[in-house]
Amino acid sequence: MRASNPAPDLTRIARQIELSYRVDDVRNARESWAAATSDTCFAVLDGAEKFARDVLEPLNFSMDRSGCALVDGRVVTAPGHRTGWVSYVEAGWPTLEAALEYGGQGLPAILAFAAQELFDRACPAFGMLPVPQRSAFRLIDAYGTDAMRGEWLPRLASGEWGATVCVSEVGAGSDLARASTRATPNDDGTWSITGEKCWISYGDHDLTDQIGHAVLAQTIDAEGRKRPSLFLVPARLPDGSRNTVAVRRLEHKLGLHGSPTCALGFEGATGWLLGEPGRGLAQLFVMIANMRLAVGAMGLGIASAAADVALAYAAERKQGGKPDPLPINQHADVRLQLLDALTAPTLLRGLLFAVANANDLAAQGDGDAEALAAWLLPIVKTTGGEVAFDTAGAAIQVLGGAGYTNEWPAEQALRDARVLTIFEGATGIQALDLTHRRLLADDSSYRAFLGVAETCSDDRLKACIAELEKAANWLKANPAKADGGATAFLHLAAVAALSWIAAEYVGSGTDDAVLKVTADHWLDTAASKAAALGARIKAGAALADRFAAL
Ligand SMILES: Cc1cc2nc3c(=O)[nH]c(=O)nc-3n(C[C@H](O)[C@H](O)[C@H](O)COP(=O)(O)OP(=O)(O)OC[C@H]3O[C@@H](n4cnc5c(N)ncnc54)[C@H](O)[C@@H]3O)c2cc1C
Repeated sequence: MRASNPAPDLTRIARQIELSYRVDDVRNARESWAAATSDTCFAVLDGAEKFARDVLEPLNFSMDRSGCALVDGRVVTAPGHRTGWVSYVEAGWPTLEAALEYGGQGLPAILAFAAQELFDRACPAFGMLPVPQRSAFRLIDAYGTDAMRGEWLPRLASGEWGATVCVSEVGAGSDLARASTRATPNDDGTWSITGEKCWISYGDHDLTDQIGHAVLAQTIDAEGRKRPSLFLVPARLPDGSRNTVAVRRLEHKLGLHGSPTCALGFEGATGWLLGEPGRGLAQLFVMIANMRLAVGAMGLGIASAAADVALAYAAERKQGGKPDPLPINQHADVRLQLLDALTAPTLLRGLLFAVANANDLAAQGDGDAEALAAWLLPIVKTTGGEVAFDTAGAAIQVLGGAGYTNEWPAEQALRDARVLTIFEGATGIQALDLTHRRLLADDSSYRAFLGVAETCSDDRLKACIAELEKAANWLKANPAKADGGATAFLHLAAVAALSWIAAEYVGSGTDDAVLKVTADHWLDTAASKAAALGARIKAGAALADRFAAL
């Protein structure tokens, strides 16, 4: 019998929404967003938590055990998955952030991400389908024709239809420009897509009648050059027949067993161009940006559940102490482990909410918010993945031998979390993006972050920001050494970003004990962590050169 996750503290999550970056500006920025009053926010959290507890959590273990199967060329999901999906759609959970005109509830993105945390806390593999669905909605909204918008957006918003992002290939993982899948124009305005995409999440399944694949494929421009372009390739064609998209393999993997990961063969499949030919990579960013933020939310869900499991277990488990055994949460070493395990997800939630709000304001034309979101996106994506894995590992340590068994959810959490720093751009790639594009090529997003951090008066934040500025100036003066320092710089930027959230909580005068204690705990050591990362940034290039001597 598998132990369940303790209930999350919804009051704290609601407080963090109220303390989030410019939340009232978001409420004022669009008529439908004004509906996200604190009462509505709490009602959404409460409903999402109940749904997660009643429907998703019971599925988590069984989906992990059963996995998916490939039967006669089609993917069959784990027993109970389809029933859970139908309940999710009927309850209207996919519709939270979609615009009213497409049947959505028109709420701000912060609520969709807050609900996602609660769903992914219960069953991350289930959550791997709504993420591309919500992200494809944004892509088709931005680059689809009116006809595509009319046909696809209401069905993606409701959850009736699914979606994938099909970019990776055996020879094109981080380096998407090397994609070899090609698209050739047909006489009727459609395109024929040929090639193989790998590791496609929910590439096929039995949960929705239609799947829209957002496929990156090479087209040839007027000068005969290959150009990456984006296509919408439906699994089922308008006449009801199946498109020529074959499931060539179903991967067996470390975690997320309930989420089918497929190699898909596009065998002259019919596709429709999205946006402009040759602009595929740039256009794809609308979808990828939302998916990266969703990785942060998934990491938060896994981490917050793991921290709560550790806290609850440590209050009950008795070891040591004289004459009577003590609950292990009375031992100083365990207390420190618990404090660390609670701190990172608490601050990560604040960071996730900040980016969600900044994105919403950016969509309304707010340039400062857009620049801030651009700086924080690789940070929240990477931090989400790292905090999830580290907190699951910390929970296993607190639970001892019990944590290593599947009677407790932490071992599955550790396995499920491991991929979060790989897909949607591996950590090293996020680091190069932050360092080269967002600092060295054009530092306006970095300056936007410094601008918001400057508004906090906490001296510990100021010391941390001073380390960030020292490191940024050193990289600007030594661009040839930037690759060697990039990952440490991403980690330093993450320490600074979480310190900003912590300083906001301290400055707010909140009486929430967890927010106060975790914020102080983080800020007290932030500058020393930042200084150590600063040293690593400078040493990185020379250290990497050691490898050449092997
Ligand atoms: C469970 C799962 C689900 C997935 N779902 C999808 C999906 O739905 N759609 C999809 O298209 N893809 C999906 N992927 C693929 C995923 O996005 C890729 O695995 C990821 O982008 C990394 O590519 P890669 O695996 O080829 O690694 P590589 O690109 O080979 O990278 C391997 C390592 O080398 C480093 N590296 C690579 N290039 C550089 C460089 N230039 N400089 C410095 N370091 C570098 C990376 O940081 C990484 O650590 C999924 C993968 C998994 C495991």
